Amino acid sequence: MYPVTKSAVPDLARYMGYVEQANARRRFSNFGPLHEELTARLEAFLGVENLLLVSNGTIALQIAYRVLGMTGRVVTSPFSFVATTATLQWEQLEPVFADIDAASLNIDPREVEKRLKGAGGIVTVHVYGNPCEVEALESLAAAAGVPLVYDAAHAFGARYRGESLLRWGDAATLSFHATKIFHTIEGGGIIFRKRSDFEAARELINFRLRDERPVGPAGTNAKLSEYHAAAGLALLDSIDEILERRAAIIHEYSRELRDWAGLQTWHPQSTPTGAYMPILLENEAQCLAVKAELEAQGIGSRRYFHPALNCIEGVGERQPCPIGEDAASRVLCLPLYAELGPSDVVLISDRVKQAISGRAGQ
Ligand SMILES: *Cc1c(COP(=O)(O)O)cnc(C)c1O
Repeated sequence: MYPVTKSAVPDLARYMGYVEQANARRRFSNFGPLHEELTARLEAFLGVENLLLVSNGTIALQIAYRVLGMTGRVVTSPFSFVATTATLQWEQLEPVFADIDAASLNIDPREVEKRLKGAGGIVTVHVYGNPCEVEALESLAAAAGVPLVYDAAHAFGARYRGESLLRWGDAATLSFHATKIFHTIEGGGIIFRKRSDFEAARELINFRLRDERPVGPAGTNAKLSEYHAAAGLALLDSIDEILERRAAIIHEYSRELRDWAGLQTWHPQSTPTGAYMPILLENEAQCLAVKAELEAQGIGSRRYFHPALNCIEGVGERQPCPIGEDAASRVLCLPLYAELGPSDVVLISDRVKQAISGRAGQ
């Protein structure tokens, strides 16, 4: 029986060690010592500066938009988790969809360019951790004079040209939800390019207090607690093994399935971190049949992402994105978690092949 994901479990003894520190100090939130320790260790591990921890990956996006002053229409990708679009709407911004590239599954800079006139920002995602065309997007944003935000929820540990991918954009946001590679149960982070943006955001997530006095306009509460930081610190001790194992699983799956299903084309200047294992079936009918067949055999899979975000209700007038819609209709993510052994990957891949060729049960 293979679920599509199994959350990594923080070592209990380590976790309790950190919790005892918090209890002894009676310090549970408001940028406490565990929060600061996790920030420093993550900055060092990821190779980034100006990392602000927040209470989840969704509020991370909203805070980034606010601090960077996004306004009006924002060019974004139809192929992401719903939070990428929902956060724009929540912040009264209007999503304008630019279609993706069929091979990388990332937003296509040429499509962005067509929609940038009069727009107030660009928000896009490194899909499954695969780097966007960051140089092209950077120059488009600079030429238009608008902020560029990466939803980097899939890009924990991702490298690009030998450096952290998270250094790209005016801000890059992370999710530390329990289903992600690294997590704090619930939590998230924002990496700002500029120190001044980091400082503004740090005030904003603590009611915009300055010297204990609120300064306008209104802030909010999006701080990460000490117990959440404790879970992260406990998990961070085993992150190297987790990343290594997940990347190996991706490699094994890809070798098994490359002649059977479409695979995302990875950027040549990067390597997969093992965030997700998507396969593209021939069409939606085959996708649904394979999903049902796997389920009947106790193998979980997820239509991630489905539907395309330009097709969900409430995003306004329909903006066609044929490539994104096509990918969303036939993508399936396979089981992926560090405990999967090589023989599990072979077994799951065999079941996938049988389901694809309609030979299930033989
Ligand atoms: C998980 C995820 C989010 C949301 O993060 P939460 O921590 O669950 O709020 C946003 N964007 C993408 C692409 C994600 O995968």
